[in-house]
Amino acid sequence: MTGSSCLAVMYHYVRDTARTPFPDIRALPVALFEQQLDWLQAEYDVVPLSCLTDALAGHGSLPRNAAVLTFDDGLIDHYETVFPVLRRRGLNGTFFLTEDACSDTPRLLPVHKAQFLLACLGADAFGQAVLAASGQPRQAGAAEVFGSDRWEDEDARAVKRLVVHELPFDQADRILDDLFVRHVGDPVAFAKTFYVRPAMVREMAEGGMTFGSHTRTHRMLARLSPEEQLYELSGGVAWIRGMTGQAAVPFCYPWGGPHTYTAETVRILGESGYSLAFNTVRRQLRLDDPGFELPRIDTRDLPPYSTAEAISRLLSATEQV
Ligand SMILES: [Zn+2]
Repeated sequence: MTGSSCLAVMYHYVRDTARTPFPDIRALPVALFEQQLDWLQAEYDVVPLSCLTDALAGHGSLPRNAAVLTFDDGLIDHYETVFPVLRRRGLNGTFFLTEDACSDTPRLLPVHKAQFLLACLGADAFGQAVLAASGQPRQAGAAEVFGSDRWEDEDARAVKRLVVHELPFDQADRILDDLFVRHVGDPVAFAKTFYVRPAMVREMAEGGMTFGSHTRTHRMLARLSPEEQLYELSGGVAWIRGMTGQAAVPFCYPWGGPHTYTAETVRILGESGYSLAFNTVRRQLRLDDPGFELPRIDTRDLPPYSTAEAISRLLSATEQV
């Protein structure tokens, strides 16, 4: 029996943070990751991304309860922890990399500087430090634009909104860099142990994993001009293909909520040769969804975080919840 839908699950950190210098980073503990895979493998048919790509293109079919696993940001967790687990289970994962971060001369992305500053300082002190450095009051009532932050408290969301959505990029980068050096450490040294490197990507690709692009610098695409968006998107297919030999190269939007990209973004993705794109609209993916706006659910939407009732409510929704 073939299916017309698929569960695409999104992961970020998979690590036991209590054993790291940053216990407040929000991560999926390794044991819970394994437990969630047990549940997924019992309830779903976890298929390689190529199955979904083919089915979307009308070249193949999906099993009735198909699921795919996706991992964002090219974190070192994905090489050290996730890759061995998936290989042992014979599963495919798709890993979305940002070119600036996952090169041989990696740069720590502002999004990650902000996460670690938040973990070190707390939302209140971090927010105060950013406001003091920026010298401007926060805009009231800024639009809620993120797709994956609903589990954070209000203060954390406010400071993230300020550094990611409101301040000019260059100013936010400079402020985050100064604060990171002062409170956490050297961002260059940090980046070298934080992201997967091209050699690891090649090893994972040989081990059956799939890769995709997550832009060049992880800037919010909706804030960029068409020329700037082209810079972020145009090189990704050749970059991933060069490391992995993949014919089909998928994409996923930084931040990923419905307002983090534009119709222009979707047009450029199509013209740049990507095979599909994921956002973070939380519902079940259907084969008749637009191929460059495929929804995903978060690891926190599944057991052991969510009840069976909450999951079935989420999956039966036709719009974002
Ligand atoms: Zn990301």
